[in-house]
Amino acid sequence: MTFQALVIDKDEKAGYRAELRPLGDTDLPEGDVMVGVQYSTINYKDGLAITGKAPVVRKFPLVAGIDFSGVVQHSTHPDWKPGDRVLLNGWGVGESHSGGLAQLARVKGDWLVRLPDDLSARQAMAIGTAGYTAMLCVMALDKHGLTPADGDILVTGANGGVGSIAIALLSRMGFRVVASTGRLGETAFLQQLGAAEVIDRAELAAPGKPLGKERWAGVVDAVGSHTLANACAGTRYRGAVAACGLAQGLDFPGSVAPFILRGITLYGIDSVMAPQALRRAAWQRLASELDLAKLDAITHEITLGQAAQAGRDILEGRIRGRVVVNVARI
Ligand code: NDP
Repeated sequence: MTFQALVIDKDEKAGYRAELRPLGDTDLPEGDVMVGVQYSTINYKDGLAITGKAPVVRKFPLVAGIDFSGVVQHSTHPDWKPGDRVLLNGWGVGESHSGGLAQLARVKGDWLVRLPDDLSARQAMAIGTAGYTAMLCVMALDKHGLTPADGDILVTGANGGVGSIAIALLSRMGFRVVASTGRLGETAFLQQLGAAEVIDRAELAAPGKPLGKERWAGVVDAVGSHTLANACAGTRYRGAVAACGLAQGLDFPGSVAPFILRGITLYGIDSVMAPQALRRAAWQRLASELDLAKLDAITHEITLGQAAQAGRDILEGRIRGRVVVNVARI
């Protein structure tokens, strides 16, 4: 049986490339569950893998795509049987194990999460790893004990996947959300998502002071670098910052002042190796708390054949909201 896949390959003659190719199931890695993939999405990391701008892919050839949703076709894993609706995020899939930008994927059953009843396969990938990571950030702030009465929440990288879902989730929970963006032209879109205030990301992007005015009770940061340092410097006494991204940079040029003088907490958020219990809790909360009409309104569908271009676009900041890849369409 052959199927279509977006394959990343590298050799001396043709260089680094991402191309749509027919594969057979013998081209897939070992695993105890075969999934008929229905949808995938384009994450920032997929963009890095597709373009080769960062060494995300560690084996060649490899099918791209760090996440997918679909239906189990075969399984020798005790938890899964044919017909089960599943999703997968991370675990090195799309990096060192062939991934979701294909019509078939063979993976370890231990990596799969049951698709919540209230979500379609398309909605799950409209949420994607970005939305699941946004929920992990929200859960960290929640566990810290923050409530809407504590004050504003800053969301950076607001128009991106993590940022847009974080805004929708936090505003639904009753928080007043301040969205930081480089695309002020998208202010109306961010307000529709639930942002009460939109600020220019330039306010946070340059080197700042160790401590600033106490502006927000909590932060979801998808950007890193000076933005994260300034976000910490502007966090209120005993507030919390959930750091998940590096869109501005991997560095953290901050000071300890907000930690030792204001007692703020910095939570590191990793979606890739997060334990299964946390994943299941995050997906259940996404299914029940995310406004799915809002999600549908910010989602647009592309074909598997358009996925490589979307990978280039996400790195250029040209994608707004969520993209789902319908892998049945070439
Ligand atoms: P997107 O590309 O969709 O969004 C990133 C957003 O960051 C952009 O839309 C833009 O928002 C903003 N941005 C881009 N470049 C810069 C810059 N130079 N300075 C400041 N802001 C910038 O990516 P995702 O939302 O999918 O992911 C966001 C980050 O989170 C990425 O770094 C990704 O690698 C990371 N991530 C981490 C995970 C984890 O497990 N920790 C899981 C998933 C993602 P705007 O246009 O509004 O300014």
